[in-house]
Amino acid sequence: MNKVRNRLTLIFILFIGLSNLAAGIFTVSVLRDSQVRSLEDSLEEQLKLYLATVDWETVFERSVRGEAYGHEAARIARKAGARVTFFDRDGAVLGDSAKGTGPGEEPGQVPKEIVLAGSQGFGTDIRASGNDSEKIMYVALPASFGDSGVGFVRFGASMNHLDAETFRITSYLLVGLLVLLLMTALISYRISQGLTGPLEKITRVAYQITNLNYKARVSIQNRDEIGQLGQAINTMAESLQFQMNRIQEDESRLKSVLENMLSGVVMIDRDERIVLINRSAEEMLGMSAAELLGQKYNVLKAQYELIKMIGECEEKHEHIRDEIVFYYPEERTLDIHLVPMTGAGGEFMGIVIVFHDISAIRRLERMRSEFVANVSHELKTPIAAVKGFAETLLGGAVNDPETAKSFLQIIYDESERLDRLIGDILDLSKIESKRVQLHFSPVEMKPFIERTLNMMSTEAAKKNIQLESNVEEDIYVEADEDRLRQILINLLANGISYTHEGGSVKITVEPVTASGTETGSDAEYEKIRIIVQDTGIGIPRKDLPRIFERFYRVDKARTRASGGTGLGLSIVKHLVELHKGTIRVDSIVGAGSKFVIELPVLQ
Ligand code: ADP
Repeated sequence: MNKVRNRLTLIFILFIGLSNLAAGIFTVSVLRDSQVRSLEDSLEEQLKLYLATVDWETVFERSVRGEAYGHEAARIARKAGARVTFFDRDGAVLGDSAKGTGPGEEPGQVPKEIVLAGSQGFGTDIRASGNDSEKIMYVALPASFGDSGVGFVRFGASMNHLDAETFRITSYLLVGLLVLLLMTALISYRISQGLTGPLEKITRVAYQITNLNYKARVSIQNRDEIGQLGQAINTMAESLQFQMNRIQEDESRLKSVLENMLSGVVMIDRDERIVLINRSAEEMLGMSAAELLGQKYNVLKAQYELIKMIGECEEKHEHIRDEIVFYYPEERTLDIHLVPMTGAGGEFMGIVIVFHDISAIRRLERMRSEFVANVSHELKTPIAAVKGFAETLLGGAVNDPETAKSFLQIIYDESERLDRLIGDILDLSKIESKRVQLHFSPVEMKPFIERTLNMMSTEAAKKNIQLESNVEEDIYVEADEDRLRQILINLLANGISYTHEGGSVKITVEPVTASGTETGSDAEYEKIRIIVQDTGIGIPRKDLPRIFERFYRVDKARTRASGGTGLGLSIVKHLVELHKGTIRVDSIVGAGSKFVIELPVLQ
């Protein structure tokens, strides 16, 4: 931009300087011409006047020793202030007011003005002396010297004062020109600055826009072409900003969709490089985007089968779908889709891979089939017993009343067991599928616990087990009373079942504040803690994590003897969770078990 400004300034200076120089030269030369001509005219006038007034008789009378011409020349020269020379008709000097030859003259040579006067009746010439650079203008006219015949008279005048005048005028003009040039430089610089300044601003804004600063605007108010250019740039920036905002919004929307979707998405370009990966895919592949982006897809060494699938999709350009189990970073079953991307011309652009984690679905399916197998297995034993004893009875044992009675008792017990089992299974499946409707109401814990313990007292008395309770006064909880009772009865029944005769089962209820500490009942509490503790056989440490699973039993034989179905704790856990509570168990083999339930006071 500076270059344009400098160029413009230089062009202005050159243009104005040269035109002024030309005008100056022209003026000086015209002036000088007119001065020379006026000098010439004045010499001619003087000469003519002299010739018209000269009286040659007097001249010759006054002559001293025949030096009439020389004398006359000196006299006239004094009066006219010029050099005066008389020539005979052949151009030889008759008399001269100055000594010797004039500047630029050769002795014996007829000067040019005399030759011209001879031929044209008027002659003039300007000659400079070789050394002192004095220029002299000569004007000559033919003259008749009375009776002495004819010849020429010549007046010569120095042109030095003319030169001095010309020099003076030229100097003034030059100084004027210099001042003019300086002013021109200043003004033209200002003008070009005025022209290029807005352009510079526009260029700066254009660069800012190039560097993605779409808020940059040109501040030009002029209505001229440059103002319009600035306006156009501003409109362009606005439109770019608008479009960019839209693109960014779309991009961030797309990004947040990609980042928050549960399916993993990976994009591979035609050079086999990973160009996009979302968070779910990072998790599934066990590698971060930083490690993967820009890398070739075979960097996914841990997923060999996936690499093979990508290679196949790349080769065949076909949609491929498969279910693969990833073992790294953790075991997952993934449903993988590979879709080849094609450009507008149908050319291969890369591959989009979408991963769906179907581990949970597969686990659920597995659990379902396991559950069916377990249920069938559980049902088989009592049914086989019922069938076996009924057959024996039918085969004749019915005739022995003692045996018949004991067999019928067994059949009755087993069918009761079956009834319980089926009841539990139905209950559990209802709770699990959230088909139970909970009816929440405030439950005062102290009377509620007492009523529940009463219900279990006969069971406990059979084994001489002491039931104890330690419940603070005025503790309320919002719960479904029937379901809460079911929870406690299950836990108490287990406590009684798995405790030796003479042991004890104790139930404690205490309020818990937000910080988790136990407080007095007066204070604000957010949860209550129910602890069911027995002095029974306990649960081995290795079994503790699985105790809440369906049909899980620590000791099958013993449980069966106790009439358990293996579903009690599973039901308890689900019911506690429906109350948004938690349950955990601590146990020491031989010393007893402690089940701790925490329930929020308000649902
Ligand atoms: P069950 O109906 O067989 O008791 P649960 O689901 O209630 O089934 O309990 C699962 C298993 O956990 C039981 O078979 C038993 O081995 C063990 N268990 C449960 N409660 C206790 C306890 N209080 N003391 C010792 N073991 C227990």
